[in-house]
Amino acid sequence: MTTFAELGLSQKVLSAVTDAGYSTPTPIQAGAIPPALQRRDICGIAQTGTGKTASFVLPMLTLLEKGRARARMPRTLILEPTRELAAQVAENFDKYGKNHKLNVALLIGGVSFDEQDRKLERGADVLICTPGRLLDHCERGKLLMTGVEILVIDEADRMLDMGFIPDIERIAKMIPFTRQTLFFSATMPPEIQKLADRFLQNPERIEVAKPSSTAKTVTQRLVASHSKDYEKRAVLRELIKAQDDLKNAIIFCNRKKDVADLFRSLDRHGFSVGALHGDMDQRSRTTMLANFKDNKITLLVASDVAARGLDIPDVSHVFNFDVPIHAEDYVHRIGRTGRAGRSGAAFTIVTKSDTKYLDAIEKLINEKIEWLNGDLSALPAPMESHDTGRGRKGRDETKERGRGRRGASSRERAEPVEAKNPEVQIEAEKAVEEQRVENVRPERKSDRKPQNNGGNRSARPYPANDDARDRRSRHHRDHDDGPTPVGFGDDIPAFMLIVANART
Ligand code: AMP
Repeated sequence: MTTFAELGLSQKVLSAVTDAGYSTPTPIQAGAIPPALQRRDICGIAQTGTGKTASFVLPMLTLLEKGRARARMPRTLILEPTRELAAQVAENFDKYGKNHKLNVALLIGGVSFDEQDRKLERGADVLICTPGRLLDHCERGKLLMTGVEILVIDEADRMLDMGFIPDIERIAKMIPFTRQTLFFSATMPPEIQKLADRFLQNPERIEVAKPSSTAKTVTQRLVASHSKDYEKRAVLRELIKAQDDLKNAIIFCNRKKDVADLFRSLDRHGFSVGALHGDMDQRSRTTMLANFKDNKITLLVASDVAARGLDIPDVSHVFNFDVPIHAEDYVHRIGRTGRAGRSGAAFTIVTKSDTKYLDAIEKLINEKIEWLNGDLSALPAPMESHDTGRGRKGRDETKERGRGRRGASSRERAEPVEAKNPEVQIEAEKAVEEQRVENVRPERKSDRKPQNNGGNRSARPYPANDDARDRRSRHHRDHDDGPTPVGFGDDIPAFMLIVANART
């Protein structure tokens, strides 16, 4: 078995790795570190959770020991699709670079330019950025990219989903052709392969796990449910309560609107819960994530975009409140648990209209997932008292049509959203969230209203400026987690039942 000492890393780096408690390199580290130290280009196909970050941070630290940074001329550049990922990479530099005196600058949106300018002025050895904020700094004339020796493009498939590829191409053009490029992606569809071919020269290709595989340490189960959201919420509550070994869990929803609803519902039912989605401002997201990492909250309701790539070690459970529409998302969601060889559990709530998405997932992961308590045919009749059935057919049909369109082919999905306003990273994330799932069902008027949290005020997941009408309608709607009335609900006013005498 390879040891870290055999990889060619410097003593300073090796000592920090030992202090971090790691004795054996993970496969992506063992595969990528030696060629990276030889200044080779790397094409790494690896998901988060595989130790991918250290596979570029450790060789970078070793290589950066020679030379010094000059003002406004960073020596290395790491591009990340989201602010959280960028911040996580910066944390890795703190951890593994504790024996170095390197200037690491984190350029992400939501932080003042002045502070970032000061860091750049001092000379950055490592620049970690989201593409929009980097372009902003370049356009302000505060940054010269001609000194960049190493470029890291991380989570390339995510960059594609978020429409950042044109930005990355612009950035790559500013960096000398002689640079070393380290390119990482969880999956390698043809579009990403084309990108890699454009950016890399004679790369060393390292693939550590099939992009479609889920960790063997994760127990996966399907849980049948009727299709109404309140029925699914009841199923979820029972499921959570039935887990004796639940330490913490991420609950995934397809739409940020559902993240909001589910968060409020769980909060009302007394669960320790937070939420994470693209509408939250950066401070709330950071606080929420910190609270979850510090075990101040047990459950985190999240959308795919907000949660992708977050390194939250030791998540014991993943619940899919919705079956993901894109099969790849299933693999990413499940990847939140069972990390670094630990055991984990993943439950997916499935309704009748989800079967085709489930089929696609089982095809992708090449295995049948077991049902927990019998499949959909074993479901008891729906709760009639909650559901008059009125209006249901039409809505479900529309939902089905919408889903069919989005789910027709995985390659038809998520056409890149042009990052029109590169200043605002968060906007791109919101756009992707909306693009990925908005057609699942038609938006109701109430979907657009701001919502209140009523929970943890230090990290409010939703804007607090809702008006009295919203509060009234929310109270009405969420009172018992029952169905949302449509039109007049069951109370048809008498005047509507009068037969009019139409003149002919
Ligand atoms: P990443 O794939 O970079 O998100 O890393 C996933 C997790 O694995 C992080 O919590 C790392 O701290 C941890 N990790 C990284 N390298 C190793 C290693 N060689 N052995 C054990 N854990 C590691």
